Amino acid sequence: MSNRTIQMTDEVYDYLLDVSLRESPVLAELREVTAKHPMVGMQISPEQGQFMALLVRLIGARRCLEIGVFTGYSSLAVASALPHDGKIIACDVNEEFTAIAKKFWDKAGVAKKIDLRLAPATDTLDQLLRDGRAGGFDFAFIDADKTSYEGYYERCLELLRPGGLMAIDNVLWSGSLVDERNQDPDCNALRSLNRRLYSDERVDLSMVPIGDGLTLARKRP
Ligand code: SAM
Ligand code: CA
Repeated sequence: MSNRTIQMTDEVYDYLLDVSLRESPVLAELREVTAKHPMVGMQISPEQGQFMALLVRLIGARRCLEIGVFTGYSSLAVASALPHDGKIIACDVNEEFTAIAKKFWDKAGVAKKIDLRLAPATDTLDQLLRDGRAGGFDFAFIDADKTSYEGYYERCLELLRPGGLMAIDNVLWSGSLVDERNQDPDCNALRSLNRRLYSDERVDLSMVPIGDGLTLARKRP
């Protein structure tokens, strides 16, 4: 027994999946297809997809934002947890990745819930703000280019309703943030965001050691 988060060995991880992962056949097939993609490391883990789906159900989310779609695993997990009239505005810049996503959204019967915006996410979020959508979203998942995270965070915070939830991915960046000799721009962007969020009184906060680290930030009413 331990009063800190345990080390996740391969064996324990397999056990965790074995006794808890309830992945739909379409999500499983998408994960299989993405496993052959050279950038497979960009996909969230299946237990993280299930965790986010649970969060979305817990808060009764209907309006969601996703920044960073890739082959669509996270959006499919979230969309499947939304009610029939739920919607995700999904932002990405890559047509090739998102063509795979669209195929699987169709296959799972959730395509009508997902509005894909192929443009730099900052532009899409700014457009939503100009359209008067501030305060209109329940859940936002940030998982795109790390050096833009602070901008995504500020914009998503404005777009969330009070009590809405933001989930920010890769906040532990494979554990590399603790090595100050590592000064690459992604590392520094994540360090700076993590520090900023720690003292941001506008949100309730928890950094969850699932996947590559997932910060949950609830917009305070
Ligand atoms: N959430 C996805 C999943 O579960 O599979 C993984 C997303 S992947 C880590 C990051 C994605 O962000 C890529 O598909 C990339 O094309 C996209 N991206 C990179 N820069 C972007 C930008 N400026 N605006 C929108 N999307 C961007
Ligand atoms: Ca990620």
